[in-house]
Amino acid sequence: MLQRKYIFPNVIELNVQAGHLIGCNVYLIHDQDEWILIDVGYEDDVDEIVELIRNLDFGLSKCKTLIATHADVDHCQGLAKLKQILKTTVTAHPKAANLLEAGDRLKTFAEIEAQGIHEEMPAVTVENHINDGDVIKIGNLSLQVWSTPGHADSQLAFRLGNLLLSGDNIYRDGGVGAIDAHHGSDIPAFIASLERIRDADVEWLLPSHGPYFRKDPKMLDQVIARLNSYLHLSDFGTCAIGWPLIDQWEQEIAEGKLPT
Ligand SMILES: [Zn+2]
Repeated sequence: MLQRKYIFPNVIELNVQAGHLIGCNVYLIHDQDEWILIDVGYEDDVDEIVELIRNLDFGLSKCKTLIATHADVDHCQGLAKLKQILKTTVTAHPKAANLLEAGDRLKTFAEIEAQGIHEEMPAVTVENHINDGDVIKIGNLSLQVWSTPGHADSQLAFRLGNLLLSGDNIYRDGGVGAIDAHHGSDIPAFIASLERIRDADVEWLLPSHGPYFRKDPKMLDQVIARLNSYLHLSDFGTCAIGWPLIDQWEQEIAEGKLPT
């Protein structure tokens, strides 16, 4: 048996627990015997995750459900395999459920042909659809569901007391989940999600990649300002809402202005 390494009461993160990097963050939340996972990572890592959970003395039959923060391959590829081993259900936002049930490889970043990325995305049935305002019970704990679109239109976050399991919204270095038009990213929605996180009275952010960290409204302000700038620059193509440079250029052309 392994000693449980809690990062917060009732919360274990499996990379931390293992003492080495497995993949995306996998949070195990439990109350007494009942437990859930938030994200599961790649299929190749499922066996290690099962072994870890077994060695932590959690009953494999006591997994209430496997929750997806969104449908990306690095968070969800292992869902079908793990679900079969645990004989449990899958829980996701309806838009993530569509991708997971179809085994979509484009919107989940499993297939990025231009970069030679060709991953499998095994289809999996999603029994439970969740959305903003829903509450997931784990024993006597209540996990509140937040819809936080931006990185993906199905991105969820989960509040547990003063913790926010914040998905791919924000990382400790101020980075955010990839902004990509083909992925359903939406910068105005992303800004609204980050403002909601900034303004909420949660103390800790537990992201889906990298270390958990204390929420800092000033840092979030800087990130929001950066995303605001993207709305008017070409950096993220059609995710911008306008391109003032071209308006200026149009005026300069009309005025017959030449380079000086
Ligand atoms: Zn991610």
